[in-house]
Amino acid sequence: MSNPNPGTAGAVLVLNSGSSSIKFKLVEPASGNTLAQGLIERIGEPEGRITFHHTTGKDERFGEILDHRAGLRAVLEILEGLGRPLHDAGIVAVGHRLVHGGNVFHEPTLIDDDVVRAVDELSELAPLHNPANVVGMEVAREELPDIPHVGVFDTAFFHGLPAKAATYAIDRDVARKYDIRRYGFHGTSHEYVSHRAADFLGRDIAELNLVVLHLGNGASASAIAGGRPVDTSMGLTPLEGLVMGTRSGDIDPGIVMHLRRVGMDVDTIDDLLNRRSGLKGMSGVNDFRALLKLVEEGDEDARLAYDVYVHRIRKYVGAYTFELGGVDAVVFTGGVGENNIDVRRDSLAGLGRLGIVVDDARNTADERGERRISADSSQVEVLVIPTDEELAIARAALAFV
Ligand code: AMP
Repeated sequence: MSNPNPGTAGAVLVLNSGSSSIKFKLVEPASGNTLAQGLIERIGEPEGRITFHHTTGKDERFGEILDHRAGLRAVLEILEGLGRPLHDAGIVAVGHRLVHGGNVFHEPTLIDDDVVRAVDELSELAPLHNPANVVGMEVAREELPDIPHVGVFDTAFFHGLPAKAATYAIDRDVARKYDIRRYGFHGTSHEYVSHRAADFLGRDIAELNLVVLHLGNGASASAIAGGRPVDTSMGLTPLEGLVMGTRSGDIDPGIVMHLRRVGMDVDTIDDLLNRRSGLKGMSGVNDFRALLKLVEEGDEDARLAYDVYVHRIRKYVGAYTFELGGVDAVVFTGGVGENNIDVRRDSLAGLGRLGIVVDDARNTADERGERRISADSSQVEVLVIPTDEELAIARAALAFV
């Protein structure tokens, strides 16, 4: 097929389907350029919203979006509305961000009916995410039937965790029967960022020990040696580990039993720990900028929430540094990690004796992009590396074209 838009040759549409939202990004894998991106929210509610960024600006539309199919059709219409009829736009593949690959999927996978079924069967392990991913795959395959659809799993990178890090110390028969182990999430981001960090440092990833802190609405830490994961903070589900926007991260599992015994049912506890905990639970707000505003205004709950958040990060950095036997770089990424000066400063403050010194001027400089924020005297490099999960997914999908 002729391509009247050479600039869009080989674009991959990356989809991230949530229970009531679809995030999309049209990416040129070769250059890394984003041609268009957007978010469809409140699918199935009366007041849906489509926010849409393209090379020349931003659009917003409101109105009911009946279901995921209607949402995806809206995406395709928008892309066509840009003056790039889809089939001429050179979309060569669709990359699907899929959350839980269980013990089944360990690498990017060409999606067929069997794959969709298998992801569906894994829904028990990720009831919030996998069913939405299934709908996204079904609808997208119907709408764009002639190109490869490729699934990239959030858990895949951590498949190779050493058994001692992946195993929960519970009854082995129960663990085997129910596939209970540490799976880890945000793997696409941790893998992408660690490779970018090695490139930034001009070093071979095979010789680097890294602690990667993905701090976004969800948050996770990983210890990476020679490009391979050694440990990670998320577990069977994306609930374990660091404090997040609305998720508790680590708690005593006894709390769950206690809440059951005092009369909360499982769904209420699930909602409590996944949607009403973390920063939101402690302070009332889940967005980090809103939290900082409250802190500035002297709100004590917000201050405590901030301290708990930072304390947890320090704990993981310490544990992973020891697990790795020393670390070459600590890497911040995700919305908070890339943008928040205070969290980067406070989570590594006072660690000069361990060779970790954040440079104040570098940390506070008004810069974006990949950068070093450690002092020249720091033995450990401290880096900010913006993540780009969509680009990583687009590149993985391109391999199937
Ligand atoms: P993500 O899930 O990676 O998009 O990250 C979302 C989180 O990043 C939210 O809590 C935002 O408040 C936070 N964030 C985004 N931009 C900034 C910023 N400029 N300063 C502080 N936090 C930010």
